[in-house]
Amino acid sequence: MSFAHSHLLGIDPLSPGDITTILDLADQYADLNRRDIKHSDALAGLTQINMFFENSTRTQASFELAGQRLGADVMSMAMQASSIKKGETLIDTALTLNAMHPDLLVVRHPHSGAVDLLAQKVNCAVLNAGDGRHEHPTQALLDALTIRQAKGRLHRLSIAICGDIAHSRVARSNIQLLGKMENRVRLIGPPTLMPSGIDAFGVEVFDDMTEGLHDVDVVMMLRLQRERMDGGFIPSEREYYHRYGLDTEKLSHAKPDAIVMHPGPMNRGVEIDGELADDINRSVIQKQVEMGVAVRMAAMDLLARNLRTKAAREVIV
Ligand code: ASP
Repeated sequence: MSFAHSHLLGIDPLSPGDITTILDLADQYADLNRRDIKHSDALAGLTQINMFFENSTRTQASFELAGQRLGADVMSMAMQASSIKKGETLIDTALTLNAMHPDLLVVRHPHSGAVDLLAQKVNCAVLNAGDGRHEHPTQALLDALTIRQAKGRLHRLSIAICGDIAHSRVARSNIQLLGKMENRVRLIGPPTLMPSGIDAFGVEVFDDMTEGLHDVDVVMMLRLQRERMDGGFIPSEREYYHRYGLDTEKLSHAKPDAIVMHPGPMNRGVEIDGELADDINRSVIQKQVEMGVAVRMAAMDLLARNLRTKAAREVIV
């Protein structure tokens, strides 16, 4: 098993082989997570600190659970109550934590690039849990694992990513991962929610759901990210739902066995019909959450193996 990385900052630096390595190990952790006893000692003796500067439900909970199931000492900082609120900079906070010798630092930050910057200042493994509209690598990996399990493969699939592409780190990481694994990616959304320079991504772009969803294998919906919008990107939520909200009629244009995905949190009746989201014959949204824990276990395990190899080499030298 080879995974020669010190951090997991994005999908960009990963090769198709790296992605397969993570997903294969995650498959094993998905099995472990279905057993009564869910413990392994892959991270025994190591310290994991979670720093979430932006709200999170699924990602934070699953990183915590992943670390605990692998036997790490896990601490989640309450960032709202931290010294950041007293004016301390991100780098000072990172250096303070670094002095406590963590082995794994899991960071979410509202600014694109903040997690990369932080990784340069500390000497532990850093995992990006989402930075601004830049990258959310573990989300793309858990989506990939969910697709691979549902479709039996992760190549030559036609995948539509729909909605607020412009503000979405989930879309950015998924476009890269799915492209590296040789899938056809289509982006569907209103022109106001498409990022500029989208042609460079090697994707097809549609502003009409019927056309864009034609014959796709996977439909990935995105949340309208109002916290990153500073003006009128859509006429109204009602109008948006009418044109871009996924319901059974729009889904009928995809392949009959197409799966429906959403990273959460979901706005029912805005980007997706609530009943369709709960339809276990089409929707794999809960499966995505389940795979999130497994993928985070795999990513932290692989980074910890590298930490241990590095430490062993230093002892020998
Ligand atoms: N939970 C995902 C993220 O953190 C998607 C979203 O917030 O819409 O990017």
